[in-house]
Amino acid sequence: MSSIRYAELGVRPLINAQGRLTRLGGSIMAPEVVDAMIDAGHAYVDIFELQREVGRKLAELTHNEAAYVTTGAATGLFLTTLACMTGTDIELLAGLPLIELPKNEVVIHASQRFAYDPAVLLAGARFKEIGNAEATAAWELEEAIGPRTAAVLYLAGEVNRRSALSLEETLEIAHRDGVPVIVDAAAQLPPAENLWHFTRDLGADLVIFSGGKDLRGPQSSGLVVGRKDLIEAVFVNGAPNPYVGRPMKVGKEEMVGLLAAVERYLTLDHAARLAGFEAIVQGWIAAFSGIPGLRPSRSWPNEAGQPMPRLLLEIDSDVLGFDANDIRRALWEGDPRIAVGHYGTKHLYLTHADTDDGARGIFVTPDTLEPGEEHIITERILSIVRTGG
Ligand SMILES: *Cc1c(COP(=O)(O)O)cnc(C)c1O
Repeated sequence: MSSIRYAELGVRPLINAQGRLTRLGGSIMAPEVVDAMIDAGHAYVDIFELQREVGRKLAELTHNEAAYVTTGAATGLFLTTLACMTGTDIELLAGLPLIELPKNEVVIHASQRFAYDPAVLLAGARFKEIGNAEATAAWELEEAIGPRTAAVLYLAGEVNRRSALSLEETLEIAHRDGVPVIVDAAAQLPPAENLWHFTRDLGADLVIFSGGKDLRGPQSSGLVVGRKDLIEAVFVNGAPNPYVGRPMKVGKEEMVGLLAAVERYLTLDHAARLAGFEAIVQGWIAAFSGIPGLRPSRSWPNEAGQPMPRLLLEIDSDVLGFDANDIRRALWEGDPRIAVGHYGTKHLYLTHADTDDGARGIFVTPDTLEPGEEHIITERILSIVRTGG
């Protein structure tokens, strides 16, 4: 957790017990990824050739027709939307962003609108929303699809299901009209099998993953897998081609780094990893049980819907004399700085300095930790409780 550069800059590294969040640095790259990026940085290459060969290898590894490396899952949303609107029509593409595309509607469940969806609008698409917070009917999707429909966008993962139709039903209806379905599965790893499940097993046309989350690839990387013709369209829309995708260029180091990350991910013993996370959470529960004012429990799945446990530590402020905001702030301000999640508030992006009346506890996540950091967290929380916040 040390860095000479960060120290020189006066920026404090932190223990991330909150999640794979970009604003906390995303994830720590696996050593194999760093090595691959350094290696790739030593030589010039034809970037088109590299993108194609890395894509071919990623497709093979993930049992997909084709694959493409982006600068992140959000860029994946942007480029897949463009691909579904323009195909490989360079005349259309060259007119962007000043022309209105003939197919510029993306159908989305109203309940699945999300923080990253402006990337779709940035591509020049409009959303056509279906359903509401309570329910969506099949006929709503059927009616929303028309001659201007470029794609249907679907957020994968049970926690994101909300009141949406199932992905299976969505695919069935969209495909009846030949409309492609883009699946945002940015955080839906593990299980590693999701790299091919949505495409090969369910028939999704394009699926997006973040490279900087559980894959522990380059922070600025993302993976798109799917149909060969649509990945070809992503390729044409993407950098270094001189169209609207050009600002989101991906470097040779990220391409090779992401490939190394996926190779590594597929060899991990995910059952053993999960058992390790369970042991950490059980250790925390044991350490915080029986302390007046603290109520520890195992929470599952985590905030992104990944099948991984985390600790929920509910705080009784009447007993302790300080509340969940105070403990979150004390962890953030102490040394080393520790980031944890918040429980009971509606705020998605509560920062550690914020106070929210609804905050009733903290979430502490094991899967983002470096070895041994779980003990530092235990000690710090016990010390805060002992000294009164
Ligand atoms: C994290 C996330 C993204 C953005 O991923 P980046 O790789 O940081 O661009 C997009 N969609 C969903 C659902 C996410 O969870």
